[in-house]
Amino acid sequence: MKKIVAMVTMLFLCTLLSGCACKHTFESVVVRNASCAECGIIRYTCTKCNAQYDDYVPQSGDHKYSAKEILSATCSTQGFKIYKCSTCGKTYSEKTPTNASHTYVVDSIKEATCTTSGTKSYKCTGCNAKKTETIPATGHVFSDATCTAPKTCKNCGKTEGNALGHITGGNTCPRCGASLFNKQSVINTIRAHYANGVNELSNSANYYKKAWDTSGITSDNYVREARDAMARASTHFQNAANTCGNYPEFASVKSELWSIIQVANDTVGKAGDPSSSQAFFAINSGLNNISPRLTNITNMINGLR
Ligand SMILES: [Zn+2]
Ligand SMILES: [Zn+2]
Ligand SMILES: [Zn+2]
Ligand SMILES: [Zn+2]
Ligand SMILES: [Zn+2]
Repeated sequence: MKKIVAMVTMLFLCTLLSGCACKHTFESVVVRNASCAECGIIRYTCTKCNAQYDDYVPQSGDHKYSAKEILSATCSTQGFKIYKCSTCGKTYSEKTPTNASHTYVVDSIKEATCTTSGTKSYKCTGCNAKKTETIPATGHVFSDATCTAPKTCKNCGKTEGNALGHITGGNTCPRCGASLFNKQSVINTIRAHYANGVNELSNSANYYKKAWDTSGITSDNYVREARDAMARASTHFQNAANTCGNYPEFASVKSELWSIIQVANDTVGKAGDPSSSQAFFAINSGLNNISPRLTNITNMINGLR
């Protein structure tokens, strides 16, 4: 519209003042681009007579705003933002609404135990509002009972029931591998058996001697006692050897005891002779035979102590 008005005005003036009858040939130049705040200007100039007119491009009104947060909103207070047009510098501000929810962070923790619940406390960074959550009790976490310990809670140490005890019968417990071998008790047992064996052998010799002394020939009671004592001696040595069992440590003791059992059995055989005097001498000879072995065994057992 402006363009037309300007053109008509120019033509009118031209005709009136100079009577020029130029057939204009206009060329345009952009004097100013339109922006959000100012209109644009395009200038037309006739290449023949320099007649001019301007054309105007309306301002866009499209500001290029970018926002800057001055204050961020919280759960209890509004925020504040300023917007500024990067082209013309026009500004306006705006309040931002409060947050709908609190911004909680963990404030403190009380851990739960096996039997009591714990708590987790939170605090709002915006308004200090607080809330707590319950941490449920964990319950006991029991390990299985073992030979030496009952069921035990891994966390608090509480026990339940009793230890299982070792599976006995062998040198070691098949469940836990513990050594069940009580060396001193084995030694004491062997020592007691062989000491009794020696006594019974001596008793046997004495009974045969009494049998001979009493009757001049034989006495059935003393002979029976003597034979019984011989049997008991043999049993004691046998038991001493059995006590050694399969313990490698007692292998040498056991082999000596087997030798004594052999000697004792031979002596019993000889002592079975009806002549009490011969039996007495046979046993004494057997005792003489056994004697160095007993010394040997004594030394070995003392060495094991
Ligand atoms: Zn012209
Ligand atoms: Zn602007
Ligand atoms: Zn809050
Ligand atoms: Zn527990
Ligand atoms: Zn065990």
